[in-house]
Amino acid sequence: MLSLIMSNDNFINDIHPLVRSFFPGEEIEVSFFPEDKESGSGNGTFRTRIIRDSALILDLSLADISDTDRLRMKNILKCRVYEELSSVLKVKLPWGTLTGIRPVRLAINHMEQGFTHKDTVEYMESFYLVSPEKSALAADIAVKEMNIIKDVNYPGSFSLYIGIPFCPTTCLYCSFTSNAIGLWKTKVGEYLDCLEMELKFVSELFSGRKPVSIYIGGGTPTTLNEEELKRLFDSVHRLFDFDGIREFTVEAGRPDSITKEKLRILRENGADRISVNPQSMNQETLKIIGRQHSVEDTVRAFQDARDAGFDNINMDIILGLPGEGEKEVSHTISEIAKLKPDDLTVHSLAVKRGSRLMEEIEKYKVYSNSNTDVMLEIAALGAREMGLEPYYLYRQKNMSGNFENTGWARPGKEGIYNILMMEEIHSIPAVGAGTVSKCVHTRTDIRRNGNVKDVNGYISRIDEMLDRKRALFKQF
Ligand code: SF4
Repeated sequence: MLSLIMSNDNFINDIHPLVRSFFPGEEIEVSFFPEDKESGSGNGTFRTRIIRDSALILDLSLADISDTDRLRMKNILKCRVYEELSSVLKVKLPWGTLTGIRPVRLAINHMEQGFTHKDTVEYMESFYLVSPEKSALAADIAVKEMNIIKDVNYPGSFSLYIGIPFCPTTCLYCSFTSNAIGLWKTKVGEYLDCLEMELKFVSELFSGRKPVSIYIGGGTPTTLNEEELKRLFDSVHRLFDFDGIREFTVEAGRPDSITKEKLRILRENGADRISVNPQSMNQETLKIIGRQHSVEDTVRAFQDARDAGFDNINMDIILGLPGEGEKEVSHTISEIAKLKPDDLTVHSLAVKRGSRLMEEIEKYKVYSNSNTDVMLEIAALGAREMGLEPYYLYRQKNMSGNFENTGWARPGKEGIYNILMMEEIHSIPAVGAGTVSKCVHTRTDIRRNGNVKDVNGYISRIDEMLDRKRALFKQF
């Protein structure tokens, strides 16, 4: 147990996640020095103490910084805590004091003020103590993203997300809205009825506008059978204008849900980008993470997708899976390289609340994985050798090694929806159980509203889901 004691709660939302980055997976109890709390601001002195299992790890007292502005104060405090912890623990965090999930946004903001790529790298290194490699990565991606999205950032543009909350089985690390299709088969019809109601509602809310990109995700959309998929596509085509659409992605995801006939239906209905996600090309790992397909199934599904005419296929992998190290990751990368995917999304394992992995964390010991940086390098080198370049990046809480997820793509094959989602430049209405709609008024005024996760709840409360959307988008 870790104890974090601070002067007051002024910077708790900044210091707490930074401390957690140094101690992933450990429980942190937060409290305040009683005398400081009573005097409100702590008289301009900020004190931070960290105790771990009765041992004092950090005792920091900073005076005379209260006359600087809040951002500077916050940064001074974070840098000092970082430096002290880094020195005591002999650990450097790749992303320095950055605890938010969007380092690329920071780089874009800096460049939009007229700073160059070089200035931005230096700024991230000096102000946030980000490593030179990660600073350069964020700046490279910022340049690429700005270039890709410059044409789609027009007034009234939007993208559409459709969630299918069913999967063949539930993966060990899953925290998404996912239900084993075998148990929910009889509910799919009603679910699609509700989805159609929401889609119709969104088409009316956004009438006269054309979506830039559509993303059908989940879950695993291809757990729907052929008839159900056709029904969903018919609705989408009937309700939205596809003229000028830049990208239509369907996450085929699990190889065991993909058939030649489903791939044909996807192509026939305009899907031009799909994901076939192995996560690992090691059979033993697939078993551990609760997948019932084989490595051969992944290869077959990928080749079937190529044969069906898909020229933009993404593959997702996860680094830091239980039992996996450098050898296993090297094997996965070399097997994937043989398939020549157009995109490769490299995730660092995140232990999320609600996942089976979180519940059974003691059993898997994934936080003891100290070589995620080496595995990331193996994946990055492999991706570059496949002709792919990094084009989007985000971070999550409780990631293995405190690293990041990076999307790699062949130039021209970048997933536009992924960038739009991350950079929040336009609204994304989302339909289906567990989805979250985003209304972007301005860069600094972004509102969200989510649907209930539970499929039965979603079906029985569909009118309320429509009301939530009406309220969210009323000023759009
Ligand atoms: S395929 Fe994705 S959504 Fe489905 S159970 Fe696995 S992690 Fe969850």
